[in-house]
Amino acid sequence: MAETLSAIVVGAGFSGICAGIQLRKAGIHDFVILEKADRVGGTWRENTYPGAACDVPSHLYSYSFEPNPQWSRAYGKQAEILAYLEHCATKYGLRQHLQFGHSVQDARFDEATGLWHLTTSKAAFTARALLLGNGALHVPSLPDIPGLDSFEGTKFHSARWDHDAELAGKRIAVIGTGASAIQFVPQIAKQASQLYVFQRTPPWIVPKVDRVISAREQWALEHVPAAHWLRRTALYWQAESRVLGFAYAPKLLALAEKLVLRELARQVPDPVLRAKLTPDYRLGCKRVLISNDYYPALQRENVELVTDRIERITPHGVRTVDGSEREVDALILGTGFQVTQYLSKVHIVGKHGMTLDHEWRSSLRNYLGISISGFPNLFLLMGPNTGLGHNSMIFMIEAQARYAASAVATLRDRKLASLDVRRDAEDAFRSDLARKMEKTVWTTGCASWYQTPDGEVFLWPAASVDYWWRTRKLDLAAYEQRAYVDQAAVLH
Ligand code: NAP
Repeated sequence: MAETLSAIVVGAGFSGICAGIQLRKAGIHDFVILEKADRVGGTWRENTYPGAACDVPSHLYSYSFEPNPQWSRAYGKQAEILAYLEHCATKYGLRQHLQFGHSVQDARFDEATGLWHLTTSKAAFTARALLLGNGALHVPSLPDIPGLDSFEGTKFHSARWDHDAELAGKRIAVIGTGASAIQFVPQIAKQASQLYVFQRTPPWIVPKVDRVISAREQWALEHVPAAHWLRRTALYWQAESRVLGFAYAPKLLALAEKLVLRELARQVPDPVLRAKLTPDYRLGCKRVLISNDYYPALQRENVELVTDRIERITPHGVRTVDGSEREVDALILGTGFQVTQYLSKVHIVGKHGMTLDHEWRSSLRNYLGISISGFPNLFLLMGPNTGLGHNSMIFMIEAQARYAASAVATLRDRKLASLDVRRDAEDAFRSDLARKMEKTVWTTGCASWYQTPDGEVFLWPAASVDYWWRTRKLDLAAYEQRAYVDQAAVLH
């Protein structure tokens, strides 16, 4: 019979790696990290499109316990962030826990023993706890546009970039103008003979204050006492201050909107193009993007921003509702990810045969974005209601990983078979969030991937320090605890 582990972590991106580190810090060593791919990195392994970079400053987009004074730029690029994660996996002893090529298919909770049974594409595992760090931004969302399959040229999604595709000198269409597209459009605009950018909704874009970090500055960040800490703290509070407008008083954003529109007017003198690029919803309702090269790219001779609605994709191009067809050799989809269905690929069965897919059909119910009533010993990382519109996700991930690791340690120390969050605790948490959400910018009227198809916003509607405060220690009173009945199953 397979060994019973203390925990299984699914996914080796920022959250899975952090969970592994926190488990080891809590003295738990009998766990595996199952990863579908052949290396760590999560979103930073999957997104390799030209220009891929982070829009959170480097010194903040890293674990608090593993500062990296060597960042080469103020905003890290994909390869450097991926290298940082590889470094963390090695430094914190996770190589022995990592198992690659395991695509998790089925997870079932056994009420009699309080254990999770997992089936992957390669093997079966049994563990007391299941930590899901398999991220929401990795299953590509393909647009529901008629004729998409009929296109005969090169076609790929931004998260599945085809590096073998020859784009130089080609006619290219890009669908979507979100965070990914605004990073790769300037890169491919330089190569394409003609580039058509199909925009459905204009994003709010603010300048990116990016720069190279000199060797001297890197040295200072490494050797001058508190220098790195001071930089990180300043960046954190600078980002955190945005929560005032986003979560508590969206009216405050009117001034910021004026400044951003003034910058748009400075960068885009053509009033027709500018009108197309002017958002008609509140700043922050959709994710605010940062770029210095997107507006200049759109003003190149070989680039056209198309705002007419797409009617269909034809074998050789894109036809819009005004009847015109733009012929292209390549079609690149910058159309985002299947965010709300991110766990639907894994068949997760909790108590009384309830499935997560079914439970989440009407609402993404959860407690602290970490636990779900009826799914004992299961802990979500980057779960619903923990996304931020204003600050670094790594801060939230650390809070969740610490909380989950402390729950796993509690199961072991108190010899518990299971911890199941009470439904009333979950309901109270959800009502509190709903009340707070009403005041935020995310409910001021826009469509975004921050919402379920029913319009429920699943971000964290408050300051990130508030989340830290609530998750700083395991809230045992909110959980139903069940003791072991079978001593043979007691963990080592
Ligand atoms: P996204 O923000 O969801 O953008 C998707 C784009 O595709 C939007 O412009 C959307 O238009 C458009 N679109 C979707 N379906 C369409 C359709 N049927 N017809 C026409 N247009 C369609 O996706 P993303 O750009 O890949 O970014 C996703 C998230 O990943 C980001 O918000 C961010 O959190 C993360 N990301 C982060 C970074 C970073 O630097 N940290 C970089 C890249 C991505 P509408 O706006 O009208 O819906």
